[in-house]
Amino acid sequence: MIVAVKGLYIHIPFCDTKCPYCSFYSYIEKDETIIDKYFNTLIKEIKSYSNLYFDSIYIGGGTPSSVNPKILDRFFNSLFKLIKFSGEEFTIEVNPGSFTKDFIDVIDIYNINRVSMGVQSLDNNVLKLLGRNHKVTDIYKSLELIDLDKYRLNLDMIYDIPTVEDNIIFDTLDDIVKINPSHISAYSYQHEDTGYLANSVDLDKTLFKDIENRLHENGYNKYEVSNFSKKSMESKHNMIYWNMNEYLGIGSSASSMYHNDSNIRVRYTNTADIDKYINGVENSDKVFDEYEELDIDKQISESLIFGLRLKNGIDLNDVESKYSKAISESVLKNINILITKGLLTCQKKRLVATERGTEVLDTLSLYLL
Ligand code: SF4
Repeated sequence: MIVAVKGLYIHIPFCDTKCPYCSFYSYIEKDETIIDKYFNTLIKEIKSYSNLYFDSIYIGGGTPSSVNPKILDRFFNSLFKLIKFSGEEFTIEVNPGSFTKDFIDVIDIYNINRVSMGVQSLDNNVLKLLGRNHKVTDIYKSLELIDLDKYRLNLDMIYDIPTVEDNIIFDTLDDIVKINPSHISAYSYQHEDTGYLANSVDLDKTLFKDIENRLHENGYNKYEVSNFSKKSMESKHNMIYWNMNEYLGIGSSASSMYHNDSNIRVRYTNTADIDKYINGVENSDKVFDEYEELDIDKQISESLIFGLRLKNGIDLNDVESKYSKAISESVLKNINILITKGLLTCQKKRLVATERGTEVLDTLSLYLL
């Protein structure tokens, strides 16, 4: 099958330990035969597509940095014989303490230019509370291996953690800023979209506003609900998702969205079960659990929903010309109601969620379908 998309996502589901708050599928797998088999399967899955050319590659997990660098080296070597890549943005996710200089040497060979590290906190008690298997010293030791002149660095942090005082969150924030990454993702512990288990406590909106202000003062601009960057350092790969552009996902639990050979825009998600995934690809069976065909109205609605996650919102003219169709009367009527209620603003056809609208984005999205 020919797939003409800009972004490639490759999922590596293996982790050293399972963090208790994490609802993503991850495998605590130490058996290198299975890990090796998984990587061979990734290559087989990629071979089922042709003419692949990407501007962005994202290796996510799980913990890609927990994999033996020799396996990663073999995998990348095979991958680049099958695809063409402009080299624009190549990201790999890492966890503190999970990699050595050998790993950095491998990512260097393949010109990875963006590293995203799951720091989460710079306080040992909070790391323990979160069930992370690293300590603050591991974070700084791992950071020493990453040359900031060579790599764009993203650091993930978690706020809104029950029983953790705000001043501890702000100490982490200040220490993260001192490290000087080009990008910071700040996730609420209590929001299920991030993959962290949701519970009944409401999001602390004041805390997030204070985090946003503190980051802004330090040169990090919010460009998406949970994401902040220095000028022109936004994640190009994640912008593909938020702009509803097309992408190919390879590996267990990876999602794809693109126009298929019949020119229908499809979206599907591979099975999260790695045995099913490996056996399915081996036998040339379909390996996805969820599959849907997106009609134009659904694509328009989802463009609006994803676009409203962005600080600058979305241009309604651009949406209509991208899909060569006018936004439906019913959606326009709901947009006007949401504007009247102070949840959205619209100036020169650019629709933006207000502060109050951003707080209730999930509910607001229901009115745009
Ligand atoms: S939070 Fe990250 S490191 Fe922890 S189990 Fe989930 S994917 Fe693995």
